[in-house]
Amino acid sequence: MAIVVQKYGGTSVGTIEKIRNVAKRLAARRDQGDEVVVVVSAMGKTTDMLINMAKELSEAPSRRELDMLMSTGEQVSISLLSIALNEMGYESISLTGFQAGIMTEGFHTKARIQDIEIDRVKQYLSEGKIVVVAGFQGINENGDITTLGRGGSDTTAVALAAKLECTCEIYTDVDGIYTVDPRLFPTARKLDAISYEEMLEMASLGAGVMETRSVEIGQKYNVPIYVALSSEDWPGTYIKEYDVTMESKAITGLSVSDKDLMVTINHVPYEVKNISNIFQSLAKMDVNIDMISQTAPSHGLVNVSFTAPKSDEDIIQGIMDQILKEFAGAEVEIEKDITKLSVVGIGMRSQSGVAAKMFKIFADNDIAFKQVTTSEIRISYVIDTTDKQRAIEIVAREFNL
Ligand code: ASP
Ligand code: MG
Repeated sequence: MAIVVQKYGGTSVGTIEKIRNVAKRLAARRDQGDEVVVVVSAMGKTTDMLINMAKELSEAPSRRELDMLMSTGEQVSISLLSIALNEMGYESISLTGFQAGIMTEGFHTKARIQDIEIDRVKQYLSEGKIVVVAGFQGINENGDITTLGRGGSDTTAVALAAKLECTCEIYTDVDGIYTVDPRLFPTARKLDAISYEEMLEMASLGAGVMETRSVEIGQKYNVPIYVALSSEDWPGTYIKEYDVTMESKAITGLSVSDKDLMVTINHVPYEVKNISNIFQSLAKMDVNIDMISQTAPSHGLVNVSFTAPKSDEDIIQGIMDQILKEFAGAEVEIEKDITKLSVVGIGMRSQSGVAAKMFKIFADNDIAFKQVTTSEIRISYVIDTTDKQRAIEIVAREFNL
């Protein structure tokens, strides 16, 4: 007999029929003798709908009130699921984030879990109840309801599993983690296992299956995370600590993102404080910079390029207008039709030649890249979006993904 935390996302509890189906799965697990905690998201697109209602009333609703509003979505799904379980003859109790002891810190609508007072959950488990916990929400030091940022139910689930020292099973509408997003490369393989580190790189690079922060918590507390389909029994993917069997390949996966734009500032007078000022202004406006490169100074001038989210385009444009005023002769180019393509693999640590192979692939196939960055386990390239599909297919084939 073991404790398990399961999590079902919005699509998996999107209708009454689907909620009944989740209840059946939980009951089956209980019948096997396991103690079950289940975290659920709001039904279907409920959270979006709630936010839209608030936006009809105000352009900038108070974040505290937004949290109050959004948290109701999960309250609906936990109570319905608990009702379904009770009806099937399984003792169950639903708990809001507050009732489950989830204490948060930080800003409304993007709070972070600080700690979980787990006694109440444990008590109900010991009474044989299936404990249904609202995802995505907690309570702050003022006793106000908070939410953890969009997609935050994954974080609730992994944090509960960390506290209960058990496995976390994430049931969703995809059947696991793939080497490449199957919508972009249909013959991509499903991975049996992937390390936390690789998953973190892939998640932050655009592989949308798991919320990034939940993987960080999993890594920190060494919680095995299992991602699988909610609609069928079908083997999924384990996200877990690295082990030697994972190192046989240099590349584990390929991530692709169209979410960034690339800014190039040409002819910046070469002084460290100028470069610093540019990035200070961006940081002040909370613009998240990803790749940065700078040319060597020539005639006292340098060119600087960086990538940042397309969603911040207007802020970036404003800052660039300011910079053009400051540096006479500078030119700014903002490119939007770019794609970031990254290869990720822990195997890169011990196998050399991945970068060389990538450069050769690009050269042989006449694919130009505008920017390259590397970390210990990933190499990212910025290419034109028009080359995206071709690049994915060639790289995936060359690395057997
Ligand atoms: N219901 C929340 C959202 O839509 C939390 C979640 O689904 O994980 O973002
Ligand atoms: Mg989600």
